[in-house]
Order: sequence, then C-alpha cells, then structure tokens
Amino acid sequence: MREFWSQRARGLTPYVPGEQPRGERLIKLNTNESPYPPAPAALEAIRAAADGDLRLYPDPECTALREALAQAYGLKKEQVFAGNGSDEVLALCFQAFFDPGREILFAEVTYSFYPVFAQLYGLDYREVPLNDDFTLPLEPFLGGSGGIVVANPNAPTGLPLPLEQIRALLEGSPQAVVVVDEAYVDFGARSASELVGQYPNLVVTQTMSKSRALAGLRVGYALADENLIAALQCVKNSFNSYPLDRLAQAGALGALSQPEYLRQTAEKVTATRQRTAERLREMGFQVGNSAANFLFVTHPAVEAKALLDGLRARGILVRWWDRPRISSYLRISIGTDEEMDTLCAAVKELCSHEV
Ligand SMILES: *Cc1c(COP(=O)(O)O)cnc(C)c1O
Repeated sequence: MREFWSQRARGLTPYVPGEQPRGERLIKLNTNESPYPPAPAALEAIRAAADGDLRLYPDPECTALREALAQAYGLKKEQVFAGNGSDEVLALCFQAFFDPGREILFAEVTYSFYPVFAQLYGLDYREVPLNDDFTLPLEPFLGGSGGIVVANPNAPTGLPLPLEQIRALLEGSPQAVVVVDEAYVDFGARSASELVGQYPNLVVTQTMSKSRALAGLRVGYALADENLIAALQCVKNSFNSYPLDRLAQAGALGALSQPEYLRQTAEKVTATRQRTAERLREMGFQVGNSAANFLFVTHPAVEAKALLDGLRARGILVRWWDRPRISSYLRISIGTDEEMDTLCAAVKELCSHEV
C-alpha cells in the first residue's frame, strides 16, 4: 500500500477534521462553523471578483488585504501576513520559527494540529499537562528557547487566557517565539494583537473561518513584528507564491469592510452560548466558562460516547475525542437558537434513557 511513499510520509499521523456530511440534512455542531452567513459585503466582493481577471494570478503579497488588516489592528502592513486559512499560517510558523532539537511547548489538551505540524517538520515537542480545571499552568512554559504555542481561547476547552498571562509567557521566554492562536478570540477573549510591536517574539494568528463565517474561503493571518513576518514570507515564497486566490483576497477585504456585522453575529452566538450553557447545567452537565463559539461539557452519569451516538442517530453532529483526560467530554458548537433548542431536547431525551 505505501510503496513509493517517502520515509516522512510513512511516518505521518495526519490531523482528522470533523465530519463534513454530503447530502444529508444534519444539524452541524461539530466543526465550530458560524450558523450565520458571511457579511453581505464579503459575498458581493466575491461575486464582483468572479470575472475575466481570474485568468491572472492573484497578488502574491496580498497587499490590499494586509493593508486593511493592518488598519483594523492599528499595525503596519509589514506586521501582517496572510495565508490560506490559519492552519497554513500555523504550519508556516512551525517552519519559520522552530528548530529540531529544541522542544516546542504546548498544552496536553489543545488544538490537535500542533503535534501533527511538529511531526511533519521533524520538530521536538513536549505536551504540558493542564491543571485539573483545564487552566494553563504558566511555570512549565517559562525559560525555554524552543518555542511556545497556545490557543486563546483554548480548544476544545474554550477557556480564555488573560492578557497578563500572555505577557508572562513572552517575558518568561524571551529567547522563544510565542505563537498565540486566536481562532476564537472574537467570541469573548482579549486579543494579544495589542502587544504586537512591544514584543519581538510574539506571533498572533487569527482566521476568518469562525467569527467571520468564511470557513469555505480559507483565509487566515498572522500579526507580528516585521522581522517575524519577513520569516513567514520567506518560507511561504519557498513553497507557494499564491496561497490566497483572487476570490479569497476579495472576500476577506469585503468582510473587513463590515465590522459591525462581525460584532452583531458574535453577540448572537455568545447570547445563544449563554442560554445553552444554562439549560445544559439544569440537566446536570458540567459546562466550562467558554469564551469561544462552542461548549465543552461532561455529565457525571451519562457517557459522552453514548450521547455522541444518540445525537448522531437524531441527525445532530457534535465532536468527541477518544483521548485521555477528555474522553468523557463533548464539544458542542453554538448554532442558531433553534438548532440549540433541538439539541437540548435531544440531549434531555437521551439523558432520561441513560440514568
Ligand atoms: C479552526 C481552528 C484553526 C484553523 O482555522 P482555519 O480554518 O485553517 O483558518 C486554527 N486553530 C484553532 C484552534 C482552530 O480551532
């Protein structure tokens, strides 16, 4: 089967994304997509860009998009990098900032792409155990030189990291690049983007996939000191000159032109999150204080796997991992109020069978 595969390809254990059903009408609460459509200005911009100019390559430097992002975050264009989803931006960070033989540190429970990138690029890493309440212990992260990757809010726990703790990581490991993955920051955590310019070792990554409802467009970006952005450009230009196509650059620009739409949809999601958390707590679930567009929940008497399967049978997808420490938890993305009502009714029914 693996004849002709390189040694590296044979050794890989790829990331497994959540199910993307084809055809079936399901309530999809398994991959943290937005339940709302993208900003109207984003869709208009994509339609307007779908013309004869598609015969031409896109701007390899994403100049207009980087200028708009720079303006939105109070930075310079040279402090902004754009990529094909933040997964790509993160992959480029692993290549640009980390070296074999120096351990990269990340949490034992966090975004499971980090160990996959480390393995792909032959990098050493150590997974730091979280505290019992899933908060991040700072001490084990300090003093290293290999690099640090943290998600804020963390995935799949949803717990935010206070800005002071990010500062402590940056100051406690001045020899290491600290990557803060802010995929969910718009749903309630404080961004470290305001620290860019103060710390030469900080990289903040964000995505248009979650809060901006553009998972299908594949746009992510990094905010960092010019020197670090130059390293990302250098690696990118050694791999793919044009990671962001014309439609993606246009759509992302359109989305940025309508910031009030982001605020409104993020507010709707956080209100629905609050409502859903309360109802699940009433049913006996332990529900963490999520600052993201999902809830991480466990029930003392009902198996997470049984709930996963029972919900799947009722046409509702949620996420579960067969991994130490979190196998009794489900991660439930926040949908519309109506979808969450359907979820809560199904969960209630399943719990009454189980206990
Ligand atoms: C979804 C997600 C990403 C990647 O998003 P893209 O769609 O590739 O931009 C990165 N980090 C975390 C923690 C995520 O959940």
